[in-house]
Amino acid sequence: MKSVTMCMFIPMTTEKSDTKGMDNLNTKEKDLKYIMHTYGRYDVALKSGKGAAAYDEDGKKYIDVSSGIGVNSLGYCDEGWVNAVSKQAGTIQHMSNYFYCDQSAELAEKLCTLTGFAKVCFGNSGAEANECAIKIARKYSFDKYGRERNRIVTLKNSFHGRTVTTLAATGQDVFHNYFFPFTEGFDYAQANDMESFKNTVSDKTCAVLFEVIQGEGGVNILDKDFVQSLVSLCKEKDILVIIDEVQTGIGRTGKLFAYENYGIMPDLITVAKGLGGGLPIGICMCSDKLKDVMSPSTHGTTFGANPVVCAGANYVIDKIANPDFLSEVEKKVAYLEAKLIKPYGVKSVCRMGLMIGIELENGDAHDMAIKCVENGLLIITAKEKLRMLPPLVITYDEIDEAVKILEKTLKESI
Ligand SMILES: *Cc1c(COP(=O)(O)O)cnc(C)c1O
Repeated sequence: MKSVTMCMFIPMTTEKSDTKGMDNLNTKEKDLKYIMHTYGRYDVALKSGKGAAAYDEDGKKYIDVSSGIGVNSLGYCDEGWVNAVSKQAGTIQHMSNYFYCDQSAELAEKLCTLTGFAKVCFGNSGAEANECAIKIARKYSFDKYGRERNRIVTLKNSFHGRTVTTLAATGQDVFHNYFFPFTEGFDYAQANDMESFKNTVSDKTCAVLFEVIQGEGGVNILDKDFVQSLVSLCKEKDILVIIDEVQTGIGRTGKLFAYENYGIMPDLITVAKGLGGGLPIGICMCSDKLKDVMSPSTHGTTFGANPVVCAGANYVIDKIANPDFLSEVEKKVAYLEAKLIKPYGVKSVCRMGLMIGIELENGDAHDMAIKCVENGLLIITAKEKLRMLPPLVITYDEIDEAVKILEKTLKESI
């Protein structure tokens, strides 16, 4: 992600702006002093939220179409989710993976039943989920073909995480810096280019890892033809297909998982962001042929399968996997899309479900995002586009409000 620096302090309210502003400044000052500067932040300290509305420390309201980067799938503080999480925190909050846990067992069962995958491995983030999938793919190939067949093809412009290995998997040179040596064994093919993929695959390839919509890479939607040909070539050669659903999963595209839009069945998927409804979780799911690849002590993490997090995820899945909920998402998508065609200054809109990239006629997307935030719309960017990942529960009124602020901001910037 391109880092943006936004250091200007802007008092947010007219009423007693000096003292109210101080609260904001305090949080910001402390943050800048004590937190490592790995993110450029917007000049806002968020304090609370409900649905798609967020409030800063001065009480100013924002419509949030970023959902904490697609994490708050049910918006801020969904009542049922809060209850599920609070209840579990008061029942048993952690127990280590040496014991059986009803919440994680139930979540795994639900996810397998809904998808047809055989088993789940639990972790705490998207990067960890991808690490897990990479380990499973390499071990499957090691067990069957020996240690030389270990290479993984990923796509240029992809994003798979911030660990040393998932940075290596990420097909963007800007991420391959400073932290040498990176994990070996990744080859990069051009997205939507079967020739490039064929030329990148070798008899040492054990897996391919990709997002069907490149999120951080600029909301680039892969072609159905490309994905289907790639998958059938991989099946022929026993190359495992791993889909990174970290950003695209959990109803984001109108289906529970984005691969369902492509008429394919991957061998492995990784899921994180939206699954916990706001709590950290990252899972890897595998097909039947891979279900016994991992054995005791080949993988693990202390916090993985945490009962409180899984209680939240169980609630999220129950709600989102409901066909009525997903068809409501589709309706909102159509409503939002019709509105997005109009705004002055929008060159094109690239989207699948509620994963939306907006290309501007002119002007820098990062500057525009900062202005949107000042005007009360929390929006993020992906490369040179504005990016919306609204909570799936955003209301029609909130969509209207969001588009109104976007339009106003675009007009102001002519
Ligand atoms: C965000 C993201 C990741 C990394 O997830 P973290 O939870 O930040 O580790 C991996 N892949 C994709 C596609 C993502 O969008």
